[in-house]
Amino acid sequence: MNNNQLSQRDLAVLWHPCTQMHDHENFPMIPIKSGKGVWLEDFEGNRYLDAISSWWVNLFGHSNPIINEALKQQIDTLEHVIFAGFTHEAGIELAEKLVGITPAGLTRCFYADNGSAAVEVALKMSFHYWQNRGEVAKTKFITLENSYHGETLGALAVGDVALYKKTYAPLLMNVITAPSPDCYFREEGESYADYSTRQFAHLEKILQQNAGEVCAVIVEPLVQCAGGMRMYDPVYLKLLRAACDKYNVHLIADEIAVGFGRTGTLFACEQAQISPDFLCLSKGLTGGYLPLSAVLTTSEIYSAFYDDYTKLSAFLHSHSYTGNALACRAALATLGIFETQNVIEANAVLARKMHELGQRFLHHPNVAEVRQTGMILAIELVKNKQTREPFPWQERRGLKIHRFALSKGVLLRPLGNVIYFMPPYVINEEELTLMFEIAWQAINR
Ligand code: PMP
Repeated sequence: MNNNQLSQRDLAVLWHPCTQMHDHENFPMIPIKSGKGVWLEDFEGNRYLDAISSWWVNLFGHSNPIINEALKQQIDTLEHVIFAGFTHEAGIELAEKLVGITPAGLTRCFYADNGSAAVEVALKMSFHYWQNRGEVAKTKFITLENSYHGETLGALAVGDVALYKKTYAPLLMNVITAPSPDCYFREEGESYADYSTRQFAHLEKILQQNAGEVCAVIVEPLVQCAGGMRMYDPVYLKLLRAACDKYNVHLIADEIAVGFGRTGTLFACEQAQISPDFLCLSKGLTGGYLPLSAVLTTSEIYSAFYDDYTKLSAFLHSHSYTGNALACRAALATLGIFETQNVIEANAVLARKMHELGQRFLHHPNVAEVRQTGMILAIELVKNKQTREPFPWQERRGLKIHRFALSKGVLLRPLGNVIYFMPPYVINEEELTLMFEIAWQAINR
């Protein structure tokens, strides 16, 4: 089989996510034969540096020997079992570990099988908690402008990226949307902390006015990823935690994209020294191997559901593949790498190198901003540097960059006019340099 044959077979029967399939009349689909470390290889021997960790899931490289080995052992023992009434060692051990490493106070772990499902779980649990506690007026959620929490209907409702949301708006529950702390919009000379603090005033006011009917505020800590890798200061999370306590509203931290070392700490919430009431995890949880998600929550929340059966207060949310044993094993192997290798320290070195390589873009006439949080670096392309007027979306600049970079062996997948790098943690300096060099050439094209 060669690339073209596989691509033709694919296009005859498949429908891909986040894709206008018509584009593939002009752009070939790329069948991947194998992966090793940061590299993917197609059926003709072309290699692609996975600069976006395959949609932000891969942490320690493709075909990682440690995770491979753990899965081989698990598969000969137990692949999966119903997770109601039954349990298994990998599921228990993973929950113990997650409770141990996540911010203080998170003592319970509920599994689902993808990020959006974790968000649905957190929303339902928060709402149901208030119902069980007799606070039946609490039915709404507060979200931030430009946020993204997934694409199932509940998760989509609490997101705010028009591209994904607009078409389905009539199907979605109403939410309260607060202005974003996104520091791209800070005044010249204003610090991240000052702007984030200033923007928090809006949310505080909304809480003041609506807390009586609000279940929770949901946020992506520090980086609004799908919204264009827009970043803000930890002070916002600190203020938010205090306000949620003051107004008796839950805080849901969606660390699906930023958890597991991506922002420079194991969890982004650590940088604000806060614990949310719900912590949603997925993506990197299994090192990018298998779909799994977890919602961590507090004993207080758990206790509101714990009662005699006839009270009918149990949390009802079930996926067939809840707590899949293989996925839990992959997650344990991934956490094992964090335990045995100095991942956070090593990432700090890589992040510094990324910072250095990003400097070159600062003075480019079509770059409005280069921003970075840990192992995420984003370059905001604009038509006009002075006014920050964006390139019209119809020009599909991002797609052109994607195409060019692929032809040079680098997988970049810009979000509109934002080029970003979010590589696996096993990338080396030479590969980082290549990634930035190809992006530079792509922009100049
Ligand atoms: N929340 C955040 C912050 C995300 O970035 C994503 C995925 N990009 C999701 C939720 C949804 O996860 P999934 O794609 O696994 O449904």
